[in-house]
Amino acid sequence: MIAKVIVDIATTELDRIFDYKIGYSGAVAGSRVIVPFGKFKTEGFVVSVSNSSSYPEDQLKSIIRVIDDVPALTKENLELASFITGKYHVSTASALRLFLPSEMRKGKVRKKTANYATLSSELSLKDMLLKLKANAEKQKQALNYLYKNGKTKVSILNETFSNSAVTALKTKGFIIVTEERIVRTPYKELGASEKKVKLTLEQSSAVQKILSSTKPTLLKGVTGSGKTEVYLQAIESVVKSGKTAIMLVPEISLTPQTFSRLRARFGDKCAILHSGLSAGERFDEWWRLRSGEAVIAIGARSAVFAPVENLGIIVIDEEHDQSYESESSPRYVTEEVALERARLSGAKVVLGSATPKIESYLKTKTGEFELAEMKDRVNGKPLPEIIIADMRSEVRRGNISAFSTALKQELKQTLDNKNQAIIFLNRRGYSQKVICRECGYVAKCTHCDVSLTYHRVDNQLKCHYCASAYKMLEACPECGSLSVNYSGTGTQRVVTELQELFPNAKILRMDNDNTQNKEGHYKILKEFGDKKADILVGTQMIAKGHDFPSVTLVGILDADMSLYFSDYRASERTFQLITQVAGRSGRADDKGKVVLQTYSPSNPVLTSAIRYDYDRFYLRECAVRQASGFPPFSHILRIMVEGEDEKLAIEALKKAFESAKTVFDNYRSSFIYFDKMKSPVKRINNKYRYQVLARITNNYKEIEDEFYKIANEVTSKKVLCYLEVNPSSIS
Ligand code: ADP
Ligand code: ZN
Ligand code: ZN
Repeated sequence: MIAKVIVDIATTELDRIFDYKIGYSGAVAGSRVIVPFGKFKTEGFVVSVSNSSSYPEDQLKSIIRVIDDVPALTKENLELASFITGKYHVSTASALRLFLPSEMRKGKVRKKTANYATLSSELSLKDMLLKLKANAEKQKQALNYLYKNGKTKVSILNETFSNSAVTALKTKGFIIVTEERIVRTPYKELGASEKKVKLTLEQSSAVQKILSSTKPTLLKGVTGSGKTEVYLQAIESVVKSGKTAIMLVPEISLTPQTFSRLRARFGDKCAILHSGLSAGERFDEWWRLRSGEAVIAIGARSAVFAPVENLGIIVIDEEHDQSYESESSPRYVTEEVALERARLSGAKVVLGSATPKIESYLKTKTGEFELAEMKDRVNGKPLPEIIIADMRSEVRRGNISAFSTALKQELKQTLDNKNQAIIFLNRRGYSQKVICRECGYVAKCTHCDVSLTYHRVDNQLKCHYCASAYKMLEACPECGSLSVNYSGTGTQRVVTELQELFPNAKILRMDNDNTQNKEGHYKILKEFGDKKADILVGTQMIAKGHDFPSVTLVGILDADMSLYFSDYRASERTFQLITQVAGRSGRADDKGKVVLQTYSPSNPVLTSAIRYDYDRFYLRECAVRQASGFPPFSHILRIMVEGEDEKLAIEALKKAFESAKTVFDNYRSSFIYFDKMKSPVKRINNKYRYQVLARITNNYKEIEDEFYKIANEVTSKKVLCYLEVNPSSIS
């Protein structure tokens, strides 16, 4: 028999199948193997097994050995890898690697084992004690200890009774030593207790819909409607029928509560996969899933590759979250991979959010997705009232602090009532967009309906979609004010100001600066959850689905900053953020409030958001996207060219552009935009960046395939070239 092997070496030239004789190695499709390769040995994956080879048998080398006792990859994994290779035009080896924890390759981590001792059952304790010498005190103690405590780690016996005593007992055959696997369990402290709940009507009909639908289900439920409970029940029912489940969350460290609830419900049946774990933990969790010991995988986007067999359901929580798009090679879209994996294994898919992506909601209208809606909060309370604070009038009245009068009042009230508050700052607010502090005017591109970005180097405003450049404003074209600037507030400044306003309040801060390590977020969230602080100040990270019952006030400092971000999804992101952040307020018995500070109070995105009117927002946004030719009514394609040598990068860009031009000529009617240019951020990490930018309205598959091929052809040792489809950032 012949094994078709992909060698695990990262160069594309080697991305083809090599034939090896299986011999007695026992390799099957999915096995990781060691094979001779040139003068060396290397690791490889067996992608299939066949009777024949196009090479004469005597020229083939044999597999040296199989690496794992169970094939690391399943048949379904191999099929999914081939989908990924085909769709994103990446090498088979890099697609296969997605399925394995990186530390497993090159044998960096192994299963952890320990030796355990038990008393031999051949003799009774009394007989053994009698056979020992009178002065063998330690050995007697060790026997008595084992008799009382049962199986014990040898290392503990050694420490307590000395190595020589334990060895002596072993030699005499009085104790039996066995090697057993130890599982390194992450987040042991999570998931202790759980209250059992009775589903609301909306929840149970959502569960019904998910389980009975043959299509993927979009679960659109307002914040606090109990979506997690719906996922858990759906998972429970799938697991009961003997199948497995995958639950994806935006970022584990930001959503420990979700994991904790899963653990509480399913115990050791669930395993967690994410990059913040130690190598050993990750390795063990992975094997627990692969071996079937655990049947529910939870994790961030890469958990879509969890090694479970017989998959019954994939849940994508907060499906609108940007973290589901991979920003480094292989650039896959989690949802696309999940849908394909579900198709291959006949599994259900649930996408959940209070604010679904425009694309996803559109799919419920076209019949591609089923829609399950939950319009009420579990606690029966209305969604928190959102009060708008018009910052223009605050500025006119001379209030230049980060806090409006309304927010200050509400904060005081909240602290007086011994409740908690969250102050949200927009991370995107620090980007260089230009806003008039008096009238709220924002500089926009005349061709694209996206805001312009200030470029300090050449003092210009630029559009990141069409590359138009404009002179920097000296005064506001709307109202003539000279207060046009591009600054934002920082979390630190906000905390300082807040502390001056409320000297007795205990304030916590959470942003990228102070939360680097894996425990960082979790600690801060736990402290706040345990009511050890009154106010939590933070950026995007605090917008995620936290459930803090004592929070009754949320302040949103610069709501419109992301509204004009130079991204066609700016409005969508703003709507999502406001809804998500506001949703942290009033989740338990006390009514919640939200103060939203803005310079453009009549902006339709904000007026929809404060009424929680997703449908109105959706209709308007769809109309805008359709009229301006942005996704989901088009695809944005960007061929990126990056190289340290600018000349070579420009040459590569020209080559890419020329090839793309022939595609453009062949499909002219599909293109609504096509050009080459410097990338908005011209140099990152010493690499010059150029791009070919296009927007197309049909023939997606054909044109994208061509563009992927071009990118692969242009890539060289000195210049990296890759295609992005609807990139979430085009910096
Ligand atoms: P969402 O993800 O939709 O914002 P959660 O799933 O976090 O909402 O649920 C909000 C709160 O309501 C949680 O504390 C959860 O334990 C609780 N909850 C969920 N379902 C029920 C129910 N049927 N009865 C009582 N409490 C529930
Ligand atoms: Zn103005
Ligand atoms: Zn433009």
